[in-house]
Amino acid sequence: MSRTLRLILGDQLNSNHSWFKQTDNNIIYVMLEVMQEQQYVMHHVQKILAFFGAMRNFAYQLKKRGHQVVYIKLDDPENQQDFEQNLQRIIIQNSITRFEYQLPDEYRLDEQLKAICQKLNIETGVADTEHFLTERNDVQNFFSGKKRYLMEVFYRHMRQKLHILMEGDDPLGDRWNFDTDNRKKYDGKVPLEEPIRYNHDVTELKAMIDRMGVKYFGEVDAMRLEWPLSRQEALKSLEYFCEHLLPHFGTYEDAMLQEHISLFHSRMSFALNSKMIAPFEIVSKVLNHYKQHQQIITLPQVEGYIRQVVGWREFMRGVYWSQMPGYDEKNFFNHRTEIPHWFWDGNTKMNCLNKCIGQSLNHAWAHHIQRLMVIGNFCLLAGINPDDVDAWYLGIYVDAIQWVEITNTRGMSQFADGGIIASKPYAATAAYINKMSDYCKHCHYDYKKRYGDRACPYNSLYWNFLDRNAEHLQSNPRIGMAYRILKTMQPDEKQKVMEQAADYLDKLNEL
Ligand SMILES: Cc1cc2nc3c(=O)[nH]c(=O)nc-3n(C[C@H](O)[C@H](O)[C@H](O)COP(=O)(O)OP(=O)(O)OC[C@H]3O[C@@H](n4cnc5c(N)ncnc54)[C@H](O)[C@@H]3O)c2cc1C
Ligand code: SF4
Repeated sequence: MSRTLRLILGDQLNSNHSWFKQTDNNIIYVMLEVMQEQQYVMHHVQKILAFFGAMRNFAYQLKKRGHQVVYIKLDDPENQQDFEQNLQRIIIQNSITRFEYQLPDEYRLDEQLKAICQKLNIETGVADTEHFLTERNDVQNFFSGKKRYLMEVFYRHMRQKLHILMEGDDPLGDRWNFDTDNRKKYDGKVPLEEPIRYNHDVTELKAMIDRMGVKYFGEVDAMRLEWPLSRQEALKSLEYFCEHLLPHFGTYEDAMLQEHISLFHSRMSFALNSKMIAPFEIVSKVLNHYKQHQQIITLPQVEGYIRQVVGWREFMRGVYWSQMPGYDEKNFFNHRTEIPHWFWDGNTKMNCLNKCIGQSLNHAWAHHIQRLMVIGNFCLLAGINPDDVDAWYLGIYVDAIQWVEITNTRGMSQFADGGIIASKPYAATAAYINKMSDYCKHCHYDYKKRYGDRACPYNSLYWNFLDRNAEHLQSNPRIGMAYRILKTMQPDEKQKVMEQAADYLDKLNEL
């Protein structure tokens, strides 16, 4: 008699997968909480709790639908704490004759599962996750022969292919991109809405990971977890986003406020990356909601959101598979400085970093511009080793899985890939942070000063970054203007700026 074992990884919680259409007593689903996954990087405690919580709910739902599920908890005495040994044991115990898994999204696990299959002396098979809008190699094939991958070109292709926001062959509203309308500082013209937060009691789960000696960082306030842990909650979050946040998403997508962590962002990333909800569901819901509420929702809001999900998300995944292995070692600028210790407690006098890192430690989440233009920008200007930067980002965010973390961190934010993803480094002075936020108003440092008492570190470090990397960057037309300013800077002015930068680089831990 044939008996199949099907592995479901922690980020493969897609209850609409064709695997689950029918129940079959000869198919056993296996889900594993293993130390292996807690140790490849140090995670934020909320990330660990969110994945375990969502996995346990998923297993419960599958059982309720009549499927056979073996769920091994982290503290199960039989748990061997890695995938291979657990699978070997379960296969023998259940007289399994065939093993199947879904394509992992991480290169590391993809390699491990291929290797496990080679060792098992039973039939094996692999299925798609049925989650993404593209195949792993679509982006690579689309840009075949090109040196640079341009997201905008891919995004237009996706809009045409899926016929999203199109009028015949033309983009709705005669523009593909409303980015220039989507760069407003928050001006108080519309009221802010609180993000939807759940209230999961994680006392027991947290006690278990403590008992097991899992190393983590960050906090979980009052043992209550705010992240959606089931498909039902993911759908509720999406509904909330459409009703309350979508009407202003685009306009304020780049804005930052010190008293409000998320403005109009959807906070759907954990639900999406764990696959409790699919991108096509998000797109359909957003488009339908827009159709029914055109009197209050404008096209730039909707286009801005669609671009993130259909454009950036699929694009990053495609770049990941086109560049791995090896992408995780790229270090174009040869940055070697250790990450400052205040990344682990937020204790810096730089208010923007204090708030963005503090928020990340408290909520395991920050929005895109906080990740890119405050935290990532600082790391780039200060020359922090991209290995350190990657490990921090991969650990801290609840939505961080390597395929989407590394492309954003090492690629987009640190330009460590030399420009495969971004056409220029996302480097900026305090002028940008002051323009898009209220952080500078409350800061120890002065955003207008390049050097001298309380000069904002971003300013001198920006010019120092451009100066020290002139050989790599000055011919890039997208930053030509900055190099022209640097060239016309008076020598004594330039010297003061560079001395200030050297001083700050010497004492990064004290800033
Ligand atoms: C340095 C850096 C690191 C990042 N690390 C991660 C990460 O580990 N995991 C992750 O999911 N996103 C990452 N992002 C992208 C983005 O910041 C998050 O997806 C977003 O902040 C999640 O919050 P949200 O759901 O409210 O997003 P929204 O602003 O509401 O956007 C909606 C959805 O679009 C998708 N999206 C938006 N921007 C991107 C992007 N650049 N790449 C891929 N998908 C995108 C996400 O799935 C997101 O949920 C990173 C960005 C930067 C600059
Ligand atoms: S002055 Fe500089 S360090 Fe302070 S908040 Fe503004 S950009 Fe950040």
